[in-house]
Amino acid sequence: MSVKRIGIFGSTGSIGTQALEVITTYPELFSASVLTAQNNHELLIKQALQFKPELVVIGDENKYTLVKEALASTNIKVMAGEIALEAAAGTDCYDMMLAAIVGYAGLKPTLKAIELAKPIALANKETLVVAGEIVMQMAVEKRIPIIPVDSEHSAIFQCLVGEGRNKIEEIILTASGGPFRGKKPNFLVNVKRDHALQHPNWSMGAKITIDSATLMNKGLEMIEAKWLFNLKPEQIKVVIHPQSIIHSMVMFEDGSIKAQMGLPDMKLPIQYALAFPQRLTNNFKRYDFRKPDTLTFEEPDLKTFRNLAIAIHALEKGGNLPCILNAANEIAVFAFLKNRIGFLDITEMVERTVNKIPFIEKPTLEELFISDGEARNYAASLVEM
Ligand code: NAD
Ligand code: MG
Repeated sequence: MSVKRIGIFGSTGSIGTQALEVITTYPELFSASVLTAQNNHELLIKQALQFKPELVVIGDENKYTLVKEALASTNIKVMAGEIALEAAAGTDCYDMMLAAIVGYAGLKPTLKAIELAKPIALANKETLVVAGEIVMQMAVEKRIPIIPVDSEHSAIFQCLVGEGRNKIEEIILTASGGPFRGKKPNFLVNVKRDHALQHPNWSMGAKITIDSATLMNKGLEMIEAKWLFNLKPEQIKVVIHPQSIIHSMVMFEDGSIKAQMGLPDMKLPIQYALAFPQRLTNNFKRYDFRKPDTLTFEEPDLKTFRNLAIAIHALEKGGNLPCILNAANEIAVFAFLKNRIGFLDITEMVERTVNKIPFIEKPTLEELFISDGEARNYAASLVEM
């Protein structure tokens, strides 16, 4: 088997660095042939010197010279800027894209990769939240697989292997509940950035960690699941499972339920997506059923974690609403991380933006780009008030 060249878009992040660990373990299977980062030029340079990719992209153009000079003795091509990301996605320097950029910024490079019929290992859930219908349609036309990296979706994907045309009754996405499970608004109103950044089970990038604390992450994942698995909104359920051992479940039309389980470790869904349909041997820690443990399940508290309720509304209504929701949420989370707004203001900003921006039932890609911009501007104006 020849080495699969992975283009890691977002190589300096939580998913990107864990993907590089996987690649290090299987040099006979994978190489990292494209690496991209937004700001962290030091880590990007270090990764480039270690993995010798064909191409690196630094998003922040001011850092181009620094990266170029550091890699002057190599034959690694260096590009910079937002446009360069799409340009890099449009090269023949990789066989599969690992879409590991955070947020809306991941959409355009991923679209470019699909246009060139490159298979996608998709961590960037925002891509499907913003433009799921268009992205999946393009993938079908280009006959390329979109293999989920998000642990819940990887779980469902794994449960569906071998099921052919067997009908899904519903899927059950599990959620840890985040650091504030069981808390009420009178507690949440005082929550600060550093506390919200402490997730009980997973170590992830800042944005998704806040999304997990507000439960927006699960809302985004419901929308992601709708497009990935071609489901109706009412077929997508969420259950809080604080131990994060069951990563998600599928119930089939005969009532049989399949679950995918294991200790929480993102390297597993990453390596599964890169190597699919093969499973690879590894030495990750195993879950031990002989040790006393209790797996528990409860309903999400939609009254306290209203972000999830708003996201479910966007899932049901469709059109450009998920795109608006996502844009407002990105602005709000960023403002919260900068200590500019409180924890509950995130929901307030998302709700006001979703109610403000004009609804489009069947948006084109261009219209989605416009809705994204409008939602960002409006949400940002709320921060400044
Ligand atoms: P992160 O913040 O740790 O890393 C983000 C990466 O994207 C970095 O390499 C950064 O340089 C790059 N980036 C950030 N802004 C950019 C921009 N504007 N343009 C270009 N590049 C930019 O994020 P993460 O936790 O690794 O998450 C990446 C994606 O994977 C997100 O969409 C997240 O929802 C999804 N995801 C992450 C996890 C996890 O465990 N971390 C699990 C499931 C899904
Ligand atoms: Mg997830």
